[in-house]
Amino acid sequence: MLYLFEPLINLLMDIRTCLDCQSKLLGRTDKKFCCDACRNNFNNRLNSDSTAQMRNIHNILRKNRRILHDLVPTESGKASITTKKLITFGFNFDYITHFLTTKTGNTYYFCFEYGYRKLDDHYCVLVKKISV
Ligand SMILES: [Zn+2]
Repeated sequence: MLYLFEPLINLLMDIRTCLDCQSKLLGRTDKKFCCDACRNNFNNRLNSDSTAQMRNIHNILRKNRRILHDLVPTESGKASITTKKLITFGFNFDYITHFLTTKTGNTYYFCFEYGYRKLDDHYCVLVKKISV
């Protein structure tokens, strides 16, 4: 029973514990870890979570860019395609790098240097931006 209340007792008694292994900390009051191994373990775990997330998102963005790259001819830098077709290629409309709204009020959504604009419910125009 006492075990259940240990974190509370520690808090009340101002007993600090290692952020990684929860063992009691002795010494300096600004200490967060009991040893270097725990510090490394804790930080690696934090970083691996965020880098896995970032890797997934970056893969989606890279795939989106590759799809647009394959569809936009180098000469004209423009193409049009059905939204349905973009989806069948695996384009994910939820992920973009940035957007631009032209003076005429049209918004283009970009994955790096390639962008699209929805013309209506069925068609998209694809563009390549000359300079970023
Ligand atoms: Zn520790």
